[in-house]
Amino acid sequence: MFKASQYKLQIFDSCPFQYKCIYIDGLADVYRQHRPYFTMGDNIHAALKDFMSVIPVQNRNLKIAHQLLRTKWRRMRKGFKDSEEEKKWGQKALLQIENFVCTQDLSITPFLVEDYHDTQIDQDLTLLGRIDRVDKIKNELHVIDYKTGKLVPEEINTLQLFFYSIILERKFRLPVKRASFHFLAENKIIDFEPKSADLEKTLLKIKKEVKRILAEKTFEASPNKYCSTCDFIGICPKKDLAQNQKQKENDLPF
Ligand code: SF4
Repeated sequence: MFKASQYKLQIFDSCPFQYKCIYIDGLADVYRQHRPYFTMGDNIHAALKDFMSVIPVQNRNLKIAHQLLRTKWRRMRKGFKDSEEEKKWGQKALLQIENFVCTQDLSITPFLVEDYHDTQIDQDLTLLGRIDRVDKIKNELHVIDYKTGKLVPEEINTLQLFFYSIILERKFRLPVKRASFHFLAENKIIDFEPKSADLEKTLLKIKKEVKRILAEKTFEASPNKYCSTCDFIGICPKKDLAQNQKQKENDLPF
C-alpha cells in the first residue's frame, strides 16, 4: 500500500534524492533545521485553528486572535538567530492574523479544521493530507488552504486543492463545490470550482506519479530553486550545483 500525500509527490518531482532521504532512509529528523518561515507558518495555522474552532463566535476579535498567536508562539519559537529576527517574523505573523480577522466572516464554524484525512483509492493506494479548513454550506464543501508566504505566485498549481477535494469527496460523500488558497500576507483568496473531470484527471496524474516513484531506482539529486532550504544539502551528491542555485532563501514565495 503506497500512502501518497501531495507534499510527498511534490518532493519526488523536484528532487528524487531528497525524497529518498525523507521517505526511504528516514533522515528527516536527523537533518531537520528549523527555519523562521516554517515556525511562523506553523504558529499562524495553530492560532487560526483555535480561533475558528475553539473560541466562541461572540468572542472572536483581533485581541483574542493576537493572544492566541502569542500563546502558540511560546510553544514553538525555533529557527531565529536572535530576538530581533524573532520580532520581525512575529510582527509579520500578527499582521497576517489581523488581515484575516479584519476581512473574513468570523461567524462561521468550520466543518473541519487542521487535521489529517485519508481515503483508500484501491488496494495499492491511499491518499492522505493535512487539510487546513473545510466549511460545509448546506450539503456542499468548501476546502481552504492557508498560505503564509508573502507572494501570490503568477501561476497557481491546483494539484494540492484537487488532491484534498478527492479525499474529502470520497471520505464524506459530499461534493466539494469550492476550493481556495488564502494568501494571508496579501490577503488574497484564489478560488476554484473543482469539476468531476478535474478530479478524475488529478487522480490519473497521481497514479502515474506513484508508478514513477515505485519504479525509481537511482533517486538522483536534482538541483532546483529550493536547494537553499533543503536540509540535506550537506549530504547531497550534487552539493556544489545545489549551492550555486541563484535563488536565495529570502526570495522564496513563503
Ligand atoms: S540540495 Fe537540492 S539537489 Fe541536493 S538533495 Fe536537496 S533539493 Fe536535492
